[in-house]
Amino acid sequence: MTKKVLVMAEIRDGELRNVSFEAVACAKLIANGGEVVAALLGDSVGEMANTLIQYGADRIVKVEHPDLKGYTTDAYQQAILQVMDVEQPESLVMGHTAIGKDVTPRIAAKLSAGLVSDVVNVELEGGEPVFTRPIYSGKAFEKKQVEEGLILVTIRPNNIIPLERVESLTGEIDSVQVEIKDLRTVIKDVVKKATGGVDLAEAKVVVAGGRGVKSAEGFKQLEELAQLLNAAVGASRGACDADYCNYSLQIGQTGKVVTPDLYFAFGISGAIQHLAGMSNSKVIVAVNKDPEAPIFEVADYGIVGDLFEVVPLLLEELKGAYV
Ligand code: FAD
Repeated sequence: MTKKVLVMAEIRDGELRNVSFEAVACAKLIANGGEVVAALLGDSVGEMANTLIQYGADRIVKVEHPDLKGYTTDAYQQAILQVMDVEQPESLVMGHTAIGKDVTPRIAAKLSAGLVSDVVNVELEGGEPVFTRPIYSGKAFEKKQVEEGLILVTIRPNNIIPLERVESLTGEIDSVQVEIKDLRTVIKDVVKKATGGVDLAEAKVVVAGGRGVKSAEGFKQLEELAQLLNAAVGASRGACDADYCNYSLQIGQTGKVVTPDLYFAFGISGAIQHLAGMSNSKVIVAVNKDPEAPIFEVADYGIVGDLFEVVPLLLEELKGAYV
């Protein structure tokens, strides 16, 4: 059966996040030949509508309102509910991001919908979507189906491959006017932490350090390496607890979940709580001086050695490659 699927695109710093294109690809599959409508929420969404069409959305609805400039639960919840009311989709897809995690359970509760969160793969069985999602901190996967009614889905960034961008694609661009009232929170100011540019959750390459990095100074070398690789810097909780870096870099059960193409673990032992946040990375390279470190059990490539020897060698090699 064909379906109408709504995608909530995410904008950060005036740009569409990659996960929005992944959500369009996921929606396309769920729609099974039906219509994929992407909603763009913001105070002014400009040219981004065309980009979403080029990535496969059939139609765009712009939802522009001054209260949608930055994310607040109240404003986004109200706006999404009103768009759902106008569009009446059979399914809604968005990223399993801070915003997606916050707003989708609220929408699901309001609309008595089924919610499948943190999805890493979708297949069709008899025309109906079957979702794969990790359970037990990534140690196993379950397959889920929503038997009837509205389905809300959040997808883990970096798992579903976006459709190829076709610049010649065109589509309809509509607007939905929303009314936003009774806001309990207002954003006064956004203060950004300097984390080196690349968004950890969406990074294709992550350079992560643990307690073995030994100091904030040691992390500077990892930052340099990350810059050369266009990677994001991440960390274990050990490194964060020791104050070598900011907690916003923590990866793991109580930190961020990442699935990059390439994950470097320098001086990270590989505790189960850390593995929960990175073990689904496509290729894992571990550098640890302890040959028994559990990180080697999940690593595709392991170097038993001192990171203070290995990192400078890598830097030298990469700098040479870019001369
Ligand atoms: P360590 O375990 O101390 O390992 C340091 C490693 O560095 C060692 O393997 C050592 O051999 C190696 N090393 C030392 N010097 C060098 C060198 N010169 N060259 C190469 N290797 C070197 N942890 C997380 O990471 N993320 C989480 O989200 C998280 N959540 C948690 C939630 C709970 C409820 C609990 C109880 C714990 C949680 N932890 C989490 C903590 C986790 O259990 C570990 O304590 C933590 O991951 C250890 O960090 P580490 O690997 O950096 O440090």
